[in-house]
Amino acid sequence: MIGLIGGMSYASTITYYKLINEFSQTHHNSLSRAKILISSVDFDEIEKYQHNNEWQKAASLLNEEAKRLEKAGASIIALCTNTMHKVANELQKDLKAKFIHIAHSSLDELNLNNIKDVLLLGTKYTMQEDFYKNELKGLNVITPNNDDMNTINDIIFNELCKDLIIQSSKEKFINIVNKHKVQGVLLACTEISLLINESDFDNLRVFDTTYIHAKDIFNQSLKNLN
Ligand code: GLU
Repeated sequence: MIGLIGGMSYASTITYYKLINEFSQTHHNSLSRAKILISSVDFDEIEKYQHNNEWQKAASLLNEEAKRLEKAGASIIALCTNTMHKVANELQKDLKAKFIHIAHSSLDELNLNNIKDVLLLGTKYTMQEDFYKNELKGLNVITPNNDDMNTINDIIFNELCKDLIIQSSKEKFINIVNKHKVQGVLLACTEISLLINESDFDNLRVFDTTYIHAKDIFNQSLKNLN
């Protein structure tokens, strides 16, 4: 049983649910599906904790959700947002279920594809602070300049987290990415793939943390069966 802590935002939690079921369908070639429990939190509460620098409160809330999922039978827990992995350690307090860290899934995928330098796109917390970059061990991680970080952060919270897909914002993202000479781009916010993907660029590998994480979650659930 897979337990997803979602709602951050609901737009990308839908993608997780869909992807895990699609992986299940391809793998089993039948109607057999992964069992999934979703705990969808109130994103307004989480966003306020982020904004007010009250990460401990957010950590306790997410730890409670993880324990709730474990109690309901989940043996695998995943948090469907990059940003809130800032409190990944606290979230796992007193948890026996296996926690699948989105940055670790992403690092494995980047290593598998021999990517050495990567442009990191995400919320300002993910791009500016060290908690996420520190998990991408061995990689040369590049982030956009401050103005571009603000543009990206605003689009994430004001549009993508509300499932609003706006063409002019897509163009802004593409222009920001094209300013950088890198082997790959890591979409380290679970909503960015709603806006851009690899087909928007020439000769650039695009790595979507939502897809990578969902695939890893599904693969780990198969291991738990064996
Ligand atoms: N889903 C986003 C992420 O992957 C942003 C929402 C949040 O702040 O949790 O970082």
